Amino acid sequence: MTTPPIEFDLKPSASPLSDAERDAVLAAPGFGRHFTDHMVTLRWTKGRGWHDGQLTPYAPFQLDPANKTLHYGQSIFEGLKAYRQPDGSIGVFRPDANARRFQDSARRMAMPELPVETFVEAIDVLLAQDAAWVPPHGGEESLYLRPFLFATEDGLGINEPAGSYLFVLIASPAGAYFPRGVKPVSVWLSKEYVRAAPGGTGAAKFAGNYAASFLAQAEAVDHGCDQVVWLDAVERRWVEEMGGMNLYFVRGSGEDATIVTPELTGTLLAGITRDSLLTIAADLGYATGEIRISIEDWERECAEGSLTETFACGTAAVITPVGSVKSSGAAWTIGDGEPGPVTLRLREALLAVQQGKAADPHGWMHRV
Ligand code: PMP
Repeated sequence: MTTPPIEFDLKPSASPLSDAERDAVLAAPGFGRHFTDHMVTLRWTKGRGWHDGQLTPYAPFQLDPANKTLHYGQSIFEGLKAYRQPDGSIGVFRPDANARRFQDSARRMAMPELPVETFVEAIDVLLAQDAAWVPPHGGEESLYLRPFLFATEDGLGINEPAGSYLFVLIASPAGAYFPRGVKPVSVWLSKEYVRAAPGGTGAAKFAGNYAASFLAQAEAVDHGCDQVVWLDAVERRWVEEMGGMNLYFVRGSGEDATIVTPELTGTLLAGITRDSLLTIAADLGYATGEIRISIEDWERECAEGSLTETFACGTAAVITPVGSVKSSGAAWTIGDGEPGPVTLRLREALLAVQQGKAADPHGWMHRV
């Protein structure tokens, strides 16, 4: 069945903020605290498909107390960024990749799949209206885009997925993740709690995965660490990912370094940054690989000096170096505990593409 293209009905209104007030927000946006003036919504109803696309002023929803999302949690989301380009235009990093992952998440949660072109069109519609909210070119600031989809049917019947859903796109200016220079994080290996099990929901960007992670993150903080690192559910031995980011390991150094990341086993999220870095690292001449790495190997290779750097990657922070590791039975430092040269080189190379300061040989930037 081919779906006809969705036409978004435009119902904009004047911003409640003056230009000066908006510029004050953009000067120190933080993360996820301020939202642009508008949002895009689109409904899906069983038997009818996608309909009623709108751009409206950003506003709260009214929910029935029996709304199925509140009870049974059918809720998925995405996260991607728009960057101001040197010529003043706006570039969105790989929206088609996020659109495909949104479809994968929907399929896992028995929710309707939004066509890739409609996902990208929603972004174009919101950015055309709220373009002034994309921070100026030059720094690492961006406009974070948050598409999400949740069940809108009311009722407590639990035997089948909801029959109606609302897709929403909101946007929030995001500051530089490391305004005072790149700083390494310390990580805690969670052996008690797992994020994802084989056959479960770990590969979906599903709201419940995040709800289930807060306790382990609190445990990491209790142990004096910044972030939790998840291990596999079965042996509690294989390294999977860190909080809301994928992990990379650098073996060797200099031009001969090999850059490896845990393979996609179905229990970790297939990060768009992870995927992009496999390509960028190869473009820079590094050998790359998707591997399994155990916590014993991670510790031993650090002690031997053969594993020189570890970093985490994701849309929010781009690349974050990992300086030290702690678990219930061990603690070790990676390299000298400071950001490594390969980590910083990859970070600069990826940001340069996103900010339009370097060529885009893979056609990743979607221009608005
Ligand atoms: N793992 C998890 C659990 C995440 O939430 C994220 C953020 N989406 C990532 C990895 C990194 O994915 P991406 O590079 O697409 O932001």
